[in-house]
Amino acid sequence: MNLILFGPPGAGKGTQAKFIVDSFNIPQISTGDMLRSAVKEQTPLGLVAKQLMESGALVPDDVVLGIVRERIVLSDCANGFVLDGFPRTIPQADALELILEQMNKRIDHVISLDVESAAIVERLSGRRTCSSCGKGYHLIYDPPRVAALCDSCGAALIQREDDREETVQNRLAVYEQQTAPLKAYYEQAGLLRHIDGGGAIQDIQLQIKKVIQGCIGDHP
Ligand code: AMP
Repeated sequence: MNLILFGPPGAGKGTQAKFIVDSFNIPQISTGDMLRSAVKEQTPLGLVAKQLMESGALVPDDVVLGIVRERIVLSDCANGFVLDGFPRTIPQADALELILEQMNKRIDHVISLDVESAAIVERLSGRRTCSSCGKGYHLIYDPPRVAALCDSCGAALIQREDDREETVQNRLAVYEQQTAPLKAYYEQAGLLRHIDGGGAIQDIQLQIKKVIQGCIGDHP
């Protein structure tokens, strides 16, 4: 089962991708996470990506496609994968289709987490991540047991550079201009499944399960 989790920044793609990984035993392919690792490790890719990411701009298509191409052929993707934060442009979506065609695969569902733009800024500004294990939190909706410390490993929680207010507006504008057109793209392909991403995490999980279970067995 090959899935795309689609939605604006802060829609909860990362959180729900982790749920899909745990429930359906397929890997999450998050281009944002891979790029953040590259930045942290100061690889040549990370050096290209750093400034763009900090400003809220997209990393060039060919760079992102390079990392997806390398990741998607690994053996853990044999039974499926959930793409999180990719594709983000029409050329990325076109290229993905070609990559999958060559592998004799296709996307089963594009799950769109729909969230009002007013709610997004609040979500992003409260988002925190463990500086050590990467576990995600939200100061209001999913706070840690001890303030500013990770429940799992006790390390300090940090705010992503690009979740700061000045960058968030740019990310939302970039989303509207470059990424939102993918809705029509996947609608036309008959793959888009809308989910209300504004509710409680468990309700969203339930809806995602329904979408996915509708497809199990469809494409053996
Ligand atoms: P995310 O964690 O998915 O919100 O991604 C964080 C940042 O990484 C984005 O704002 C972009 O700068 C970059 N990025 C992640 N995925 C992509 C992509 N598919 N195409 C271009 N840039 C990306």
